[in-house]
Amino acid sequence: MSNDELLRRHDATGRDRCAGAAAGLAAAPSLHTAVVTCMDCRIDEQALFGLEPGDVHVLRNAGGVVTDDVVRSLVISQRKLGTREVLLVQHTGCGMATFTDDEFTEELAQETGLVPSWRPQAFADAATNVRRGITRLSSDPFLLKDIDIRGFVLDIEAFTLTEVTPA
Ligand SMILES: [Zn+2]
Repeated sequence: MSNDELLRRHDATGRDRCAGAAAGLAAAPSLHTAVVTCMDCRIDEQALFGLEPGDVHVLRNAGGVVTDDVVRSLVISQRKLGTREVLLVQHTGCGMATFTDDEFTEELAQETGLVPSWRPQAFADAATNVRRGITRLSSDPFLLKDIDIRGFVLDIEAFTLTEVTPA
């Protein structure tokens, strides 16, 4: 099982590497920013942005979508742990562009007899979805005002970033 493999790697090297890297670090991110991106396994945000432990908060989900739960985490990140910026990164070739909400919801309903209470939040165009995410973050009543929010589309082959202008 792959979980066993992960635990083996933890015992072999992971525990010591992390304990060394995090020694003396505060829980509040030293760069005062939070990165929101997709769970896509090809994205290594540590390498992409030259991150070290202690630098930033990283929030990942399917698509890098600004969901209720991402907002929840960002409100805590800002109000309890001092972050003042958000970097939103979605990407080309995202799996979330391979189906629609209706298709996936119907697929789940056919297989289980249940309709999920949540929406999958699939999207066809990453830039459009980044723009919507920025709009949502900019208008949320619980997030701090005057924070710097920037959004990008990551090319998943060249790993270049294209900035998305807000709506
Ligand atoms: Zn993705």
